[in-house]
Amino acid sequence: MENSIKFLVSIKKTYPEFNFKQGKRFSFHPKKTITYSETENNFELLLLHELGHALNGDFSFKTDIERLKIEMNAWETAKKLANSLNVTYDEEFIENELDSYRNWLHKKSLCKSCGLTRYQTPDGVYHCPHCEL
Ligand SMILES: [Zn+2]
Ligand SMILES: [Zn+2]
Repeated sequence: MENSIKFLVSIKKTYPEFNFKQGKRFSFHPKKTITYSETENNFELLLLHELGHALNGDFSFKTDIERLKIEMNAWETAKKLANSLNVTYDEEFIENELDSYRNWLHKKSLCKSCGLTRYQTPDGVYHCPHCEL
């Protein structure tokens, strides 16, 4: 925990353009606010991930495919930051994070009436190939 706070302080110093706020979980609120949770394991990596969103300029997305790409890009940025800051980049942890993301997206895409996987149009709306015939 002590190390987490030290890490946070140094990140804050390096990136004074962003606001860092304590919250229930890690998240990024465009355009400049990063929320962190002190209770999480992998504090450094999760903080770098949210910082990745902030540095990548992830402000809006419409479809879940875009969302997944944004998540992967934020981890890419986090990886570069981790390397330069001597933070261990735990590939397995990251893969698990992305997997739970993929599962969540998959569940979200299922049609509530018939259970088929729906598709999303560029406006972000889901359509069921069965129920909307
Ligand atoms: Zn993210
Ligand atoms: Zn359906």
